[in-house]
Amino acid sequence: MARDEDNNEKSKRVVTRLSQLWRFVRPYRLQVFGALIALTVAAGTTLWIGQAIRDLLDKGFTAGPESLDRVFIGLMGVVTLLAIATFSRYFLVSWIGERVISDIRKAVFNHVLTLNPAFFEITRTGEVLSRLTTDTTLIQTVIGSSISVALRNFLLFIGGLAFLVYTSPALSSMVLLVVPAVLVPIIVFGRMVRKLSRANQDSIAAVSSRADETLRAIQTSQAYTHEDHDRAQFGKDVETSFQIAVKRITARAWLTALVILLIFGAIDFVLWSGATAVVDGTMTAGTLGAFVFYAVVVAGSMGSLSEVWGELQRAAGASERLLELLAEEPTVEIAANPVPIASRIERNIHFDKVTFHYPSRPNQAALNDFSFDISKGETVALVGPSGAGKTTVFQLLLRFYDPQSGKITLDGTNIADVDPVRLRALMGLVPQDAVIFADTAMENIRYGRPDASDAEVRAAAEAAVATEFIETMPDGFNTEFGERGIKLSGGQKQRIAIARAILRDPEVLLLDEATSALDAESERQVQVALEHLMENRTTLVIAHRLATVLNADRIIVLENGRIVNQGTHEELMAEGGLYAKLAKLQFDVGRNALSA
Ligand code: ADP
Repeated sequence: MARDEDNNEKSKRVVTRLSQLWRFVRPYRLQVFGALIALTVAAGTTLWIGQAIRDLLDKGFTAGPESLDRVFIGLMGVVTLLAIATFSRYFLVSWIGERVISDIRKAVFNHVLTLNPAFFEITRTGEVLSRLTTDTTLIQTVIGSSISVALRNFLLFIGGLAFLVYTSPALSSMVLLVVPAVLVPIIVFGRMVRKLSRANQDSIAAVSSRADETLRAIQTSQAYTHEDHDRAQFGKDVETSFQIAVKRITARAWLTALVILLIFGAIDFVLWSGATAVVDGTMTAGTLGAFVFYAVVVAGSMGSLSEVWGELQRAAGASERLLELLAEEPTVEIAANPVPIASRIERNIHFDKVTFHYPSRPNQAALNDFSFDISKGETVALVGPSGAGKTTVFQLLLRFYDPQSGKITLDGTNIADVDPVRLRALMGLVPQDAVIFADTAMENIRYGRPDASDAEVRAAAEAAVATEFIETMPDGFNTEFGERGIKLSGGQKQRIAIARAILRDPEVLLLDEATSALDAESERQVQVALEHLMENRTTLVIAHRLATVLNADRIIVLENGRIVNQGTHEELMAEGGLYAKLAKLQFDVGRNALSA
């Protein structure tokens, strides 16, 4: 009893979850309606064939050639109708599946792009990818076939059962006795197969996530000569997955054999009593023929239903995960009525007593009562030991996170009140590790402003001292950079990133200088590129180069999320303290480069 309720609950959940997909199907309800009609017609004609068989056997052979013709012409008509209905059903249902899944893919991707870094801290990108591919494919199977298969078989089952009883109540009651003997073992085994296929899928996911991890870190793996270990690990995962698959296949094979044995055994048994009745003269041959036909239809539809049920369950899980992802809210709240923000900053950016800790570290403030001002056109360098909170300043200014207390304002407007997209449009970020996409030089720079003309891209490249090396590449600006810019040196990547920022021409530049040491020549070129970029621009820079701090209007020294000192290089050096110590350690590279 408890088990039944359990199953009921489960079925209800499957239905509820799948019905939540309706909002994606609704726009195509006309097609759905067409598919339903086609489906009903197909099921109706299939059932009608049973009547044709009966007429054929009972009247066709005995009543002369004319009525034989009529029976066959009628049958031909029914078959044609069945073919047309099947065509429409297959086409419409598959079309809906493909269409809906395309919409879902777009919706999920569009939505994921709105989520903040906090989300990606807890969810692995691989998982999001698997939802976009594996889960959507599952749902596609369901919408594009399983549901229609289930509906058709449901109609066939109900209709077939009705015709069964109509054709011969006596034989039907016998079938009724046989059914439980057939069904119970099938259900038990079916459950086992389902459990195993879930385990199988999990193990496949483990295999692909391991491959993903290793391939992403291929250079590290090879540099540490870790390949043998990786190979062994991967091999083990694959073998485990194979073992589980063998278990699943075995259970499945048994299930199939069992279904065949039980169902055909049952038919054989019923047929035997039917044939006896025909021989006795208590039943016509046509009735028996029709009865057998309906029995096959009912048994077949029952088998299909139990198979499809597993698919529906898996898809229900998949749709739950997808809908969960779609319901994921960005962690920074977007104001319902965002305050408009000017496309220029006239006065200043102000951090007002900002205290912030990352969601995953509630006990450790990354910024603590942090207040500072940067005026229009000013260049401020952030300096401090690693973990001091420099990057966090950028993250808050880009509003990837909201501070727990205090506020950040642009010309007096709290950035929490404006549309984050408008806010970020004012900012240009040059990260420490320049991101290079697997695209041409031209497109990589154009990323900064997608509507820029070729000429503007070239001008930006020129200002970023990138033209020279791009022109020497085989296809110039049309050279493909390859995945993650493997073909480029560190300094070249940086200059591409700088060109991108120059093209974007942002109001505020957020520059995270690369720590990696460059050779003197690259260092000089990057420096020139940066000077072009920073000219007359409000700039906040996480400084690692001596040249940068020397040129900054003001240096802010951070430690443990607090400002410990600020001033110019000379002032801070004169004071000694943390800055002098850091400068000596950190800027040596820059100093060498300068003197060279
Ligand atoms: P810096 O850029 O000066 O090296 P950060 O701003 O990156 O320092 O980090 C400040 C503090 O916040 C450090 O203690 C760091 O470990 C922590 N932190 C940085 N990013 C995260 C994150 N995504 N989740 C949790 N803690 C973080």
